[in-house]
Amino acid sequence: MEVLRVRAPVSAGVLLSYKCTGECRHCMYACSPLAPGDWIDPGGLRRVLEELAPSVVPASPRGRIGVNEGLHFTGGEPFLNYPLLLEAVRLAEELGFPSVFVETNCFWCTSVEVARERFSELRAAGLEGVLVSANPFVVEHVPLDRVEKGLAAALEVFGERGTLVYHPVYLRALRALGVRGTLKFEDYERRLLELDPALLLAGFNPGILLPMGRLVYTLAHLYERKPAKAFARVSCAEELTRDWHVHVDCYYNYIPGYCAGISLGDARRLRELVEGGVDLGDRPVLAALAESLGSLLELAREHGYRELERGYVSPCHLCLDARLHLAIEVGGFKELQPGSFYEALARLRELPPRAG
Ligand code: SF4
Ligand code: SF4
Repeated sequence: MEVLRVRAPVSAGVLLSYKCTGECRHCMYACSPLAPGDWIDPGGLRRVLEELAPSVVPASPRGRIGVNEGLHFTGGEPFLNYPLLLEAVRLAEELGFPSVFVETNCFWCTSVEVARERFSELRAAGLEGVLVSANPFVVEHVPLDRVEKGLAAALEVFGERGTLVYHPVYLRALRALGVRGTLKFEDYERRLLELDPALLLAGFNPGILLPMGRLVYTLAHLYERKPAKAFARVSCAEELTRDWHVHVDCYYNYIPGYCAGISLGDARRLRELVEGGVDLGDRPVLAALAESLGSLLELAREHGYRELERGYVSPCHLCLDARLHLAIEVGGFKELQPGSFYEALARLRELPPRAG
């Protein structure tokens, strides 16, 4: 395959920044307080939204928001830069986007009044809903009390049709434990086990999470591992070219699906990408991925990569670990962006000494 054919996206998310107030163990984009303080430029954002507008379609049924539908603003934590978020929502409204929502960890919801005020202002600007992150990873750094306040205000302002929780299973478990403040994940697991072992199973179901991103270095112990050869025949051609829930980051990288750290090109020129496809001639990592994970492994091995002896929890674990090696130890692959994503994971992989 010489050219990767990209389909015009029907739903998308825009990462306003990789900066966040905390560092969730499951974060696909490895967001962190340590991430560079780079935020998308409003002029560039307008160009990105103009490119996305013709193909993004409303959620179904109309009047609701859906995780994988419409347009969402995310991060990082979008409320760390509220003026930019407000401007982004106004731009989306001006361009006629349907089903626009924002994701938040609610760190800023110190009272229902504060949350109500901001949500109301955003709603007046065109926002249709909120996705509230409620899970044991966020609660390691955001008190559950704030999440509850954010959720109460979201329901007031946007109603049930405009409020999503990620994830109701976790929220039920945290409430059953009577958590109000923050809680270490290890204590969450221990307390669920003490309360009711069945709750532990329900309240930490690794199946809810996508085994990719930071998770593969922080929560791998919860998953079964398999050798690389078990994933060698997996091809990601479909994932790389899919038309739903794609992302654009603050550096304008057009990221397929949830494949953090992979850039198909500049989202400000999305139409060119869709019309002409992505040239694989000078993107060897993408070319290998479009073929199979075995091809990626071969490419990484040629550059000194050594397979993890303990194996991998998922195809995306193998993919990410090989890409991490190529981005950090070799460098120069323009499809592996942004560099700060790989640097954040490299720091993590070094501490403690690499398992496997
Ligand atoms: S709150 Fe969201 S963006 Fe921030 S670290 Fe957690 S998952 Fe990532
Ligand atoms: S294996 Fe890599 S390219 Fe395929 S879906 Fe996972 S992260 Fe994306």
